[in-house]
Amino acid sequence: PIVGDVSVFESTESQVRLYCRTFPVVFDRARGAELYAEDGRVFIDFFCGAGTLNYGHNNPHVKRRLTDYLAADGIMHGLDMYTAAKREFLACLREVVLAPRELDYRVQFCGPTGTDAVEAALRLARKATGRRGVVSFAGAYHGMSLGSLAVTSGRRGSGSADVTFVPYEDGPHGRFDSIGYLERMFTDLSSGVDLPAAVIVEPLQMEGGVYPASREWLAALRELTLRHGVLLICDEIQAGCGRAGTFFAFEDAGIVPDIVTLSKSLSGYGLPLAVTLLRPELDVWSPGEHTGTFRGNQLAFVAGAAALELWQRTEFRTCFAVASQRLRRFGAEVTLLDPAIAVRGRGMVLGIDVGTAGGAPRAKRVQRHCFDHGLIVELCGRDDEVVKVMPPLTIDPARHERGLELLHRALVATAE
Ligand code: PMP
Repeated sequence: PIVGDVSVFESTESQVRLYCRTFPVVFDRARGAELYAEDGRVFIDFFCGAGTLNYGHNNPHVKRRLTDYLAADGIMHGLDMYTAAKREFLACLREVVLAPRELDYRVQFCGPTGTDAVEAALRLARKATGRRGVVSFAGAYHGMSLGSLAVTSGRRGSGSADVTFVPYEDGPHGRFDSIGYLERMFTDLSSGVDLPAAVIVEPLQMEGGVYPASREWLAALRELTLRHGVLLICDEIQAGCGRAGTFFAFEDAGIVPDIVTLSKSLSGYGLPLAVTLLRPELDVWSPGEHTGTFRGNQLAFVAGAAALELWQRTEFRTCFAVASQRLRRFGAEVTLLDPAIAVRGRGMVLGIDVGTAGGAPRAKRVQRHCFDHGLIVELCGRDDEVVKVMPPLTIDPARHERGLELLHRALVATAE
């Protein structure tokens, strides 16, 4: 095969849906912030499996725990049985995440994907309130199953009679007083829209184009939903587990959601793990009401506990603080380069929005230029007009700077 020749991959893509066209190469190994291809090329990874690899590829601490567990004949599949790996993971989650934040949640294992955690959250909200409706936001991404797709915006099959979409706090069409709008909707039910069971929100919208909600907006949303007896579901599947700088993207706002969904980087190693956190009084499930054979992956428990240990380490915090500042500085440089480019972000994610500076075709060219020079970035936004920059939280300064330099060059090279 000719390296970089997309046509080589076309026959493969007709058989299975792959990323062949976007990244025409066969990857075979990865370590830290780097992906390696069979043809010898090395790529810096600013995509991280859509937020699944916050600790990088094959993190050595997590890997050691996994290989020890395998060597000791650890249980690989336990369904709902109580296992040592599950006990250890739950203890870590309580000790590292929930207790320090005084969060009193029951943990429901879902999965194996985030979609199923969303599905469980929606079903539970309906059962607990006896109502059906759900409010979701324009730009939201919550999954691809019938329930989660219904609250995902702008895809084929999105929406349903039970779902009302409302503009997010901010978006490609500017800011909107969605709190005022919801207040009116919940108060004046003569519109025919019944009081919903829940509002589902990403506190930091990722697939929608990297739109961080303000603390004030989230606090107002919590106050409003509490006052009307509507449950608040925070989907932290992509922005959670530290990407936003805090473990939960919602915690800066000082709010306590009724239900939280977590997945992606929860296992810290790319292994499938998804949970729904629910306030104890909402635990109205009957036994066996939301089950699944592969929820509770034992290897993911082992990796997840090891990842939470990393999260607590001081050196991790220091590295994160420096890296996220570097990312912010880069964002400021991009705005200087071209004021028409909008830059948004929080913690270790940056959205470079070229919507009014070349649009989606330019974003695609930026992505391709990056790939050709050894950097993987993904696009997001309503029309894929936003370059999403999501390095591992543990990235070393040299690779981080090199990746940002490649991105800078791609932006310069694609300017009109
Ligand atoms: N919610 C959010 C915020 C997501 O980003 C995603 C995945 N992109 C999902 C839910 C669905 O997760 P999964 O693909 O693991 O089913």
